[in-house]
Amino acid sequence: MFVVGDTVIMMECSHCHGQAPDDAAYCPHCRRRLHKGRTFTEEFRVSGEELVSKVKQLIQEGNIRSLRVKQKDKVLLEIPLTIGVVGVLLAPTLAALGALAALITECTIEVEKEA
Ligand SMILES: [Zn+2]
Repeated sequence: MFVVGDTVIMMECSHCHGQAPDDAAYCPHCRRRLHKGRTFTEEFRVSGEELVSKVKQLIQEGNIRSLRVKQKDKVLLEIPLTIGVVGVLLAPTLAALGALAALITECTIEVEKEA
């Protein structure tokens, strides 16, 4: 989120016209995708064993807006990766991923990156 002085820059959702933080990937009101900036999606197929290390690697590479762990079309876990959130959420998120990884044989990691 870009903060100028004490003003948080907001953007308007094109679906419901609600206000959303400038760096949000999804509208907090209608939960639909916000079309903003240039982002692209990459997918990686990994085994359960590889899941945690691959996610760590992807997060360290940076430029990721959100990360989803999917099995076929079902989203098992979604991690929003906005500036300032990463450090706080990373430990519990990786613990949740570890628990998930133990239950699955393979999955797809879908990341939305800034172009
Ligand atoms: Zn909306």
